[in-house]
Amino acid sequence: MGKKNGKKHHFVAVDVGATKILAVVCDPCGVIRSRDRRETPRSGKPEDVIASIESAIDTVVRKSDLYFSEISAIGVAIPGVVNPKRGEILRTPNSCLSGVSLEPHLTAKFGKRVVLGNDCNFGTLGEAWLGAGREASSVFGIFVGTGIGSGFVRKRKLWRGAREVAGEIGHIVMGMGGPVCGCGNRGCFEALAGRNAIEREIREAVARGESTILTDLLQGDLSVIKSRVLRMALDQKDPLVTRVISRASEVIGYACLTVRHLLDPEWIVLGGGVVEACGDYMWETIKRIIDADQLPGAQQRGGICLSALGDDAVVLGGVVAAARAVGCNVFKLVRNVEYPQVKMTSRDTLKVDKKTFTNDVVILSDGRVKKWPPEKKGDRPNSGSSTADLAETLCRGGTELVILGTGPDGDTWDVTPFFQYFEKRRISVLALPTAQAVGSYQRSKSRKTAFFRLGGATPSTSENRT
Ligand SMILES: [Zn+2]
Repeated sequence: MGKKNGKKHHFVAVDVGATKILAVVCDPCGVIRSRDRRETPRSGKPEDVIASIESAIDTVVRKSDLYFSEISAIGVAIPGVVNPKRGEILRTPNSCLSGVSLEPHLTAKFGKRVVLGNDCNFGTLGEAWLGAGREASSVFGIFVGTGIGSGFVRKRKLWRGAREVAGEIGHIVMGMGGPVCGCGNRGCFEALAGRNAIEREIREAVARGESTILTDLLQGDLSVIKSRVLRMALDQKDPLVTRVISRASEVIGYACLTVRHLLDPEWIVLGGGVVEACGDYMWETIKRIIDADQLPGAQQRGGICLSALGDDAVVLGGVVAAARAVGCNVFKLVRNVEYPQVKMTSRDTLKVDKKTFTNDVVILSDGRVKKWPPEKKGDRPNSGSSTADLAETLCRGGTELVILGTGPDGDTWDVTPFFQYFEKRRISVLALPTAQAVGSYQRSKSRKTAFFRLGGATPSTSENRT
């Protein structure tokens, strides 16, 4: 680690979203060294967004403790149609960057190779590298956020189409004569199942007099309903939100059928903000539609799964693209992460390298060690200590194998929800009494995460722990 390793490549990747800009510095094994997350300027002026991208790149390199000379290339994901050869942004429906020649500009500013790409294309590439699509011959990613986009990766290469506009799955018509889409056509997939469509359906139902817990959760202002809030309403079994989400899930399920019949990818990976927040609720409906497929032969291949990388899928895809531009094949380096040495020194004491722990510990996929539950941090409002938070933490960063040490005796903690969560994301799980789990962790050559329960209550009830 550190500045000594100057010969090793490092990459910057930036996800320029409609609402947020996420920049990372990442090594070729997919270990993220630093990150910078900020809101996308809402002024509508391209120069403000560009200034924000530049500042994010400066900041994230500074935070990484590397010199700028150690950065090999920069990948930039754009929510729209780009021309990677000319480095131009052709059209961004939800952002103000249409027509901007971003790549020549950033190349001149930073003196590095800069690669532009569509965000959903990069997201699929990220999942093919380190996520739910790893080691698959072909991966189709569908990302459900404000709108809906997709990407197709075959033999680790993106299919971009003859005119760079392949994969605009959000605009295949799924309801002839249906609601008007942002693109101007009627009945598009995204006009039926994107977050904008979900919000619109909820507002219309409320205008008709239906009640929903969202009115309380959002203090009566339903003008913006974020995915996270939809999830809260689902958790509380709100009838309106449950109905609208299950309707959207059906549409997504039928879109997956279409993809399967058209391309027969080995895996279809579902991601994006809506799936990130509500995917575990949507899963049954989507799966039911896929499993009921009557077309002969369609069921033997063509699995479906949820994104394992979450928000990081797009930037990790940006790393793949940036690395490729300088001749570095990151797919070969997935298992080159350095992990700590772990050893039980007594029934409830764990030694991780030179540090001793007596409370529950998480080891992340990049080898970092953390106490669990994490200390509350202002910049990550969702961080907590529930089963869902722990599962998400263990899932991130390109994990192939999760090892759960279930306590000294190992029989008092129901780990079924973890198995369900990871199966949907194509991640293997081992649950063993902690001492045995430590042994398995030491032996495993996989890209791995671990939770070792040493004392205390089970994670779902640990809020009250002292
Ligand atoms: Zn459309």
